Amino acid sequence: MTTATAPIRLARRFHIGWTIALFSSIVIGALAAIPTFAYFYDYTWLDWSLFGILYFVSGLGITVGYHRLMSHRSFDCPNWVKAALLIAGAWALQNSAIKWSADHLRHHAHCDQEDDPYNAMRGFWYSHCGWLFAERTYDDGQFGARVAQDPVAIWQHRHYAAIVLSGLALTFLIGFIANGVVGGIGCFLLAGVGRTFAVLNSTFCINSICHIWGNQPYGAKDSSRNSWWVSLITFGEGFHNYHHTYPSDYRNGPRWYDFDPSKWLIYGLYLLGLASGLRTASYAGSETARQA
Ligand SMILES: [Zn+2]
Ligand SMILES: [Zn+2]
Repeated sequence: MTTATAPIRLARRFHIGWTIALFSSIVIGALAAIPTFAYFYDYTWLDWSLFGILYFVSGLGITVGYHRLMSHRSFDCPNWVKAALLIAGAWALQNSAIKWSADHLRHHAHCDQEDDPYNAMRGFWYSHCGWLFAERTYDDGQFGARVAQDPVAIWQHRHYAAIVLSGLALTFLIGFIANGVVGGIGCFLLAGVGRTFAVLNSTFCINSICHIWGNQPYGAKDSSRNSWWVSLITFGEGFHNYHHTYPSDYRNGPRWYDFDPSKWLIYGLYLLGLASGLRTASYAGSETARQA
């Protein structure tokens, strides 16, 4: 019998078949089905609006929920806010927050080395998306154990597939209500499949572009780099050299004018009383302890 707070088994079972099937579907949908539908029917303002809204919602679910909250504990929030962020993050199809955090914390701990899941030393395409299909010999227990004890993360992990499907079904439902079956298919293709493809690639840019091109104002101890234009498509995550230097800072762009919508959302939640304990670079001395 399992309970809501029972620990998650984290030994890695690598389902390469599922990964290939899932990502092939997304790529074929984005590059073939979406333009084909546009040729015959075209997309409506509703499809494009929902594409934009869900790009924001699922993208911020990753940057604020998966990354800054769960992986780095850069702030605290009530469980219902955490659950909302993890639902939004699951809609980006980047695995459960527990799995995502395990990979991400391993990346910080072993950056540019053999055990770095997105090792940029192996080239652009490997760090962008090739790593998804590589054989892995490690399990998630070492770096995922802390997040795997969080009851909200456990809940999200157990219901991950249902949450992903709910996000895709929502796009079809909204389009269907507005314009029937064809409307549902159009909305599903653009705001469901196309938006997932877009958010996946913008997230991938952090691991590829931000470890290859850009400047290193905070040091060159690893390959992390700042790229202001990547921040434009990733809600502020492009200030990656700063982030690798101060991982627990709730900001990735520390200056007030740095384009970092994720920090603005966190600060907005703080002003509303929905976030607390916002951490900044002054916590740098405890970075190592906080990463694990
Ligand atoms: Zn990195
Ligand atoms: Zn990080």
